[in-house]
Amino acid sequence: MTVDQYRSLIREVPDFPRAGILFYDITTLLKDPAAFAAIADELTAYYQGQGISKVVGIESRGFIYGGTLAQRLKAGFVPVRKPGKLPAAIYEVNYELEYGSNSLAIHRDAIVKGERVLIVDDLLATGGTAAATVMLIKQLGGEIAGLDFLVELQSLNGRDKLAGYPVHSTILYP
Ligand code: 5GP
Repeated sequence: MTVDQYRSLIREVPDFPRAGILFYDITTLLKDPAAFAAIADELTAYYQGQGISKVVGIESRGFIYGGTLAQRLKAGFVPVRKPGKLPAAIYEVNYELEYGSNSLAIHRDAIVKGERVLIVDDLLATGGTAAATVMLIKQLGGEIAGLDFLVELQSLNGRDKLAGYPVHSTILYP
């Protein structure tokens, strides 16, 4: 399948979750068996052989491809979650949003020092969420092998917050 075909499967929902926001809904792509499998195949080929031992998925849409990729790469899967969800000892990081702030957490024993880690989320916008996840993994001594996004909104310059790390996105919007 082509990237244009993937893009045509993303539903654009105006005014969600708030007035003025155009939301890129990936559920319409995920429910297409051929597209879901084709992207998983492409990402597996892209990351195979890079010595990745953990795939970190960001709550909650990062869990979908993150889990699939972890299995295919024979890596472990680690969730990064919103506060109050992980039951054992955590590291937490707070990051600023346009309005207010947010926190993300990881289990302290999720990653061993020196492990090569791939971070996966559905969409890169301003990069705040992904940059916070990088901080959590660095705190555990993990090495960032790369960050992968299904969709990237290029106009928001998320890559600037991830400078120095390999970033790969499948479907780009200007
Ligand atoms: P950022 O921190 O890069 O500004 O925002 C990215 C995070 O917000 C990701 O975790 C992503 O799931 C979520 N997000 C923001 N906008 C959208 C959107 O239009 N569609 C989807 N699917 N997720 C979004």
